[in-house]
Amino acid sequence: MSSHHDLHCHSYISDGLLSPTEVVDRAAHGGVAVLALTDHDTTDGLESAREAAIQAGISLINGVEISARWQGRTLHVLGLNIDPDNRILQNGLKNTQAERNNRAQKMTEKLQQAGFDGAEEGVRRLVQGPIQSRTHFARWLVEQGHVKNFSQAFKRFLRKGGQAYVDGEWAELAETISWIQAAGGQAVLAHPGRYQMGKARLRRLFEDFKTAKGDGVELISGRTEAQDIRRFHEWAQEFELLASLGSDFHGPGPMWQPLGKLPPLPKDCTPVWSVW
Ligand code: AMP
Ligand code: MN
Ligand code: MN
Ligand code: MN
Repeated sequence: MSSHHDLHCHSYISDGLLSPTEVVDRAAHGGVAVLALTDHDTTDGLESAREAAIQAGISLINGVEISARWQGRTLHVLGLNIDPDNRILQNGLKNTQAERNNRAQKMTEKLQQAGFDGAEEGVRRLVQGPIQSRTHFARWLVEQGHVKNFSQAFKRFLRKGGQAYVDGEWAELAETISWIQAAGGQAVLAHPGRYQMGKARLRRLFEDFKTAKGDGVELISGRTEAQDIRRFHEWAQEFELLASLGSDFHGPGPMWQPLGKLPPLPKDCTPVWSVW
């Protein structure tokens, strides 16, 4: 049995491959009854997603995935059930988008220094919304034949330690959470298993997330190991955080988790939708 909820996915308005309408249609066909579109640092896809959801007869939750800083690292915080018209949220997103442009410029310079020209125009050609992502750089690097695939693009160039890596100077965690809550939404820590932290630091992150007034955590994101789900569940109970789940779908194909194929949340957790 798979969950009726999928509360984390992307369209080409950020770094996904499909339009918001195509994402919604695909989710509906995949058995999703409640979908949150959570593009990186923008809500621009929500309006057309909403129209598509009405047509498809599924429920659309307004979402966003915001880049934030904690202990000098980048974290992703989902804003779920937000009011996209909220001024405080939109102001925060505007600043984050500007920082994405700054970072992209620095990444372009690093690529140039390493002998790879043309990233600026090349990446801009692949961007269809208001944000530039490392995913666009990865697509450009593959397209130009500088690397064989995405995984090589991240390893050689884009991940921490890579030739073109630049730290994003995002807003701090507590501030990011406050934008989401100003817009009436729930702040949910995205994919805790993906931050390459040891167990002690990760537990500390759950604790700090609660202290920063965060609402919940993603217990299941894409393919999450049973052992991780159990551990995140335990910490969510300990710190009284709501539970969420999402595919983090970015497009069709083997690289991404499909929409609507997630196992259900553990029975004794409190789902984020219990407050909706
Ligand atoms: P950014 O938010 O611009 O820093 O880019 C992060 C995005 O890059 C994530 O949301 C993923 O979509 C993608 N990403 C990160 N690491 C990898 C990887 N190893 N392989 C493929 N995509 C990745
Ligand atoms: Mn992404
Ligand atoms: Mn993410
Ligand atoms: Mn995501």
